[in-house]
Amino acid sequence: MLHQIKGLHHVTSLASDARENNVFFTNVLGLRRVKKTVNFDAPDVYHLYYGDAAGSPGTVMTYFPFPDAARGRRGVGEVGRTSFAIPTGSSQAWLDRLASFDVAAIATDTRFGEKRVLFDGPDGDQFALVERDDERDPWTGNGVSEAMGIRGFHSADMRLKDGDASAELLGFMGYEKGDTDGDVTRFIVPGGNAANVIDIEVAPSATHAGQGAGSVHHIAFAVENRARQLEVREALLDTGYQVTPVIDRDYFWAIYFRTPGGVLFEVATNEPGFDRDEDTAHLGEALKLPSQHEHLRTRLESLLQPIED
Ligand code: ZN
Repeated sequence: MLHQIKGLHHVTSLASDARENNVFFTNVLGLRRVKKTVNFDAPDVYHLYYGDAAGSPGTVMTYFPFPDAARGRRGVGEVGRTSFAIPTGSSQAWLDRLASFDVAAIATDTRFGEKRVLFDGPDGDQFALVERDDERDPWTGNGVSEAMGIRGFHSADMRLKDGDASAELLGFMGYEKGDTDGDVTRFIVPGGNAANVIDIEVAPSATHAGQGAGSVHHIAFAVENRARQLEVREALLDTGYQVTPVIDRDYFWAIYFRTPGGVLFEVATNEPGFDRDEDTAHLGEALKLPSQHEHLRTRLESLLQPIED
């Protein structure tokens, strides 16, 4: 069993409109845009990162906005809902705030004894804000105070036809099986960062998800550094997983593998971080390009839709 994985690092999803995506995550949810770059594998498309002040591992929601992309279809074989932690007692403030922005599908419930505010993002992406005591400092501004600010991820929900193989994989990755609430089983990594929960929701009769705008593309798990990442890669290969070589993503190093239930997993390093190529005070403001795409700057700057700061 692995001990190097410390919880979520980031969650990456697809969107249909960069400007709308940026407004939602900064103005509505109050996150900080910590990086404005491009999809390294398809540089005509942005890669936008939103998180806490530093873009700490376990706080970073990222998007590839493909202009006018068709909406994804919810189903099994994907991450169905991404949850952020909010302070205990702040649900009502969020309900009022989300309603004031006409956010879709606002609802409340309680799961595993935790109060949740459910809502959809601009492309039908499913989110929850979960009340809990969380020591992490929020990014504030745009009308989101310290008393209600998002602390980072709480969890990601894998929605699967059959959860057994993924449960076994999470166990191998160091997660411990927790309680069950209805169709949902909770997995928690001990000694992890605060984004230490994965929920598996089993829906045997649901149809398969179709990826598109509003779909989660992959979830990334955090390891401290490249040495820990290589240990994880070796162990996954030994277990029979097809794992990519280590890929330089400028702000972290990444490996990817497909899980038995169909969800794409990444393991990303906490180093070097988002202040690698710009000052912390100005994170996310300028368009940053990886060196292999710097020669495309003039074309990309005219092609990419301008987004507000
Ligand atoms: Zn990623």
